[in-house]
Amino acid sequence: MKPASFEYHRPASIEEALKLLAEHGAEAKLISGGQSLVPMMNMRLASPSHLIDINDLSELAGVRKRGDLIEIGTLTRHQEVASSSLASEHCPLVSQAASTIGHYAIRQRGTLGGSLAHADPAAQMPLVARTLDARITLASHAGERELASADFFQAAMTTAVRPDEMIVRVSFPVQQAGERFSFKLFSRRHGDYAIVSVAVVLGTQEGRVTKLHVGVGGATPVPVRLDTVLEELLGKTPDEPWLRSVGLAVYHALTPEESARIPAIYRKELTQSLVSQALKELLAEQEMEPV
Ligand SMILES: Cc1cc2nc3c(=O)[nH]c(=O)nc-3n(C[C@H](O)[C@H](O)[C@H](O)COP(=O)(O)OP(=O)(O)OC[C@H]3O[C@@H](n4cnc5c(N)ncnc54)[C@H](O)[C@@H]3O)c2cc1C
Repeated sequence: MKPASFEYHRPASIEEALKLLAEHGAEAKLISGGQSLVPMMNMRLASPSHLIDINDLSELAGVRKRGDLIEIGTLTRHQEVASSSLASEHCPLVSQAASTIGHYAIRQRGTLGGSLAHADPAAQMPLVARTLDARITLASHAGERELASADFFQAAMTTAVRPDEMIVRVSFPVQQAGERFSFKLFSRRHGDYAIVSVAVVLGTQEGRVTKLHVGVGGATPVPVRLDTVLEELLGKTPDEPWLRSVGLAVYHALTPEESARIPAIYRKELTQSLVSQALKELLAEQEMEPV
């Protein structure tokens, strides 16, 4: 299948890209990795009249550390995030999750910004952004604005990006002392989108749980963080009964949509199991390290 005809633009600067967006707005689409947009155009699920290719804007790519943040440019390929020593040292959840996206060829082209803008409910990077409270910076001809990931994802495949805006970078908080991360997913075949994925941040101090963030992707239209239900499990010793309580709290908090292919209860049980597995591994790792 072939896409509908369109006018192709290849801006040489961010300024030029923003000018094109301001001119063509809702008629235009940015293209970064093309891994989601091109199939959608080929299937005529998207038919932009103007395609704005940002692949020459190398200033939009790369991983940097700025104070307590890891800043990743929108055009950074998944493979670069996965293999970035800065990301794996200071924010390992991000690189760990990026390494599980699709297949190698997809990771070589697909970008962080493209993945967030596409906002597939089962995608890895939206889940990680939501779990870590990443900040997403959007630029337009009028200037920049920064959004919390909780406000960025609005519904399945729907974000707060306006037609004249583009994502320019994403800022993730660096890992704090005593914090551990885990990312787990389950998919039918290697490289497929996950049926469910979970991102877990566990903080402990003197044998007690000081932080517990559990993000879940694939189960609901946008990734969710189950903070409220886990609040009462803070301050406790992470023993077997605690682990069971977390699993049950997660199970009861999730309300996946029913689908003929995958029943809601299956996603609930899968999430419970992935969260328990992640926590068990994190706690086991901790015991192996000297205090
Ligand atoms: C076979 C296959 C398997 C895959 N498996 C997975 C998987 O397991 N997990 C996963 O997460 N993803 C998976 N993907 C998707 C892949 O991660 C894509 O790279 C990603 O979803 C989109 O990124 P992209 O850079 O290719 O964006 P594009 O396809 O270029 O664009 C996607 C959307 O984002 C918009 N966009 C792009 N850049 C910007 C920007 N800077 N600002 C605002 N809007 C922008 C575009 O206009 C478009 O609407 C898979 C893709 C394929 C083809």
